[in-house]
Amino acid sequence: MGDLTRMSAADLADALGRGEVSSADITQAHLDRIAAVDGDVHAFLHVNAEGALAVARESDARRSAGESRSALDGVPIAVKDVMATRGIPTTCGSRILEGWVPPYDATVVARLRAAGLPILGKTNMDEFAMGSSTEHSAWGPSHNPWDLERIPGGSGGGSSAAVAAYEAPLAIGTDTGGSIRQPAAVTGTIGVKPTYGGVSRYGVIALASSLDQPGPCARSVLDAALLHEVIGGHDPLDSTSIDLPVPPLVEAARSGDLSGVRVGVVTELGGEGYQEGVRARFDESVELMVKAGADVVEVSCPHFRYGLGAYYLILPSEASSNLAKFDAMRYGLRVLPDGVDAPSAEQVMTATRAAGFGDEVKRRIILGTYALSSGYYDAYYGQAQKVRTLISRDFAAAFEQVDVLVSPTAPTTAFKIGEKLDDPLAMYLNDIATIPANLAGVPGISIPNGLAAEDGLPTGLQILAPATADDRLYRVGAAAEALLNASWGGPLLAQAPELVGGRA
Ligand code: GLN
Repeated sequence: MGDLTRMSAADLADALGRGEVSSADITQAHLDRIAAVDGDVHAFLHVNAEGALAVARESDARRSAGESRSALDGVPIAVKDVMATRGIPTTCGSRILEGWVPPYDATVVARLRAAGLPILGKTNMDEFAMGSSTEHSAWGPSHNPWDLERIPGGSGGGSSAAVAAYEAPLAIGTDTGGSIRQPAAVTGTIGVKPTYGGVSRYGVIALASSLDQPGPCARSVLDAALLHEVIGGHDPLDSTSIDLPVPPLVEAARSGDLSGVRVGVVTELGGEGYQEGVRARFDESVELMVKAGADVVEVSCPHFRYGLGAYYLILPSEASSNLAKFDAMRYGLRVLPDGVDAPSAEQVMTATRAAGFGDEVKRRIILGTYALSSGYYDAYYGQAQKVRTLISRDFAAAFEQVDVLVSPTAPTTAFKIGEKLDDPLAMYLNDIATIPANLAGVPGISIPNGLAAEDGLPTGLQILAPATADDRLYRVGAAAEALLNASWGGPLLAQAPELVGGRA
């Protein structure tokens, strides 16, 4: 058996099933890879070596007794640090949660454990999932394996970088405005934002509750489907969880097909403001889809242009309320104010929040409390909610004409670390194409669709489907992936330089 870290999750699962390899060996190979490259990539905030190996050995014992708990039993995974993991430190990229060890598991994590997946560790992220680059992590940025001086996207850049650098075959992310899809696009990997309510939010530290959605990060569409089936489905612990069976995602990914599929190119998600190489690769992907029998039309979603504005009112409003619980009394950090003998609870809270939250978090709390304040509520939050309804109607009208919508996932390739850090609006613009799906609750996938000519960095193709039709993403995504890979003669990641391709 070759290098275990280069294999897909599907192939690892098959090899485990045939008894050709042990989960302990697979897990150790990934831990070795993490030890070798994570000093450069910084995808992980915490490596759970002992815990992962213990679970791997249990999985091996089950396999030798002829049992297995799921298709992915024994295949290791990395988990974004936004998820509560019992007994494993969870910081959400923030100093305010430093030292917190959750007493319970998020439902997604409980399902991973029940399915027998060893958890390799917790991945880096922008603080409280606010950002597009991981530069807002209190623990320093992650680096893009394609070019270590560049960002791996965000907020879940750690998860995508881990997968791209072969430190993990699979990872979990969360997507509130694009934090699974945009990191996937800029690292040449796959990321899926499921339908809102399709994967439980229980135990996910909330950013914006009406937008947040956990989902899979992987190196192939099939691997993402395998993981999505493990984590998806109704959860009584999440009141917004959809009470419907998960559609057959793996079957959809195995029967990729584009013939007769009606594909809509969204007029508003492209053109001006999108990097030239991103546009060129997108146009080529659309041509490939046409050749494969897709019926491509252009579709206008006129209200998408207000998406970013509405999102940056709704998100801070919900975040300001969700983050009120970090009060120095219940979790993590507690800072006593300087020079005060017997500080009041409010003084401790103020000192803790001042020291524990980073600039971006403070910026959004201030924006959110302002937007929700009496006298301004209707003008800001109320208005943004109306825009949200109009965006949902744009989707509904579009999906009457087409089966899926497509666009570039992000307007640019990975930018340089530091390039946009002092310009929040420039950073926010990186989510322009991903945000509408969160506002409407529809599912989306990003698949690698080439390298931009001007910088040689990966670009992503976004495919969007109607709510609860996640299987369509996998059917169309797998077909597009096969066409694209054939056009380059192999997976895009295989073309990556040094770190991803080479060093062991
Ligand atoms: N980059 C977006 C933001 O900063 C998306 C965040 C996310 O999806 N968690 O809000």
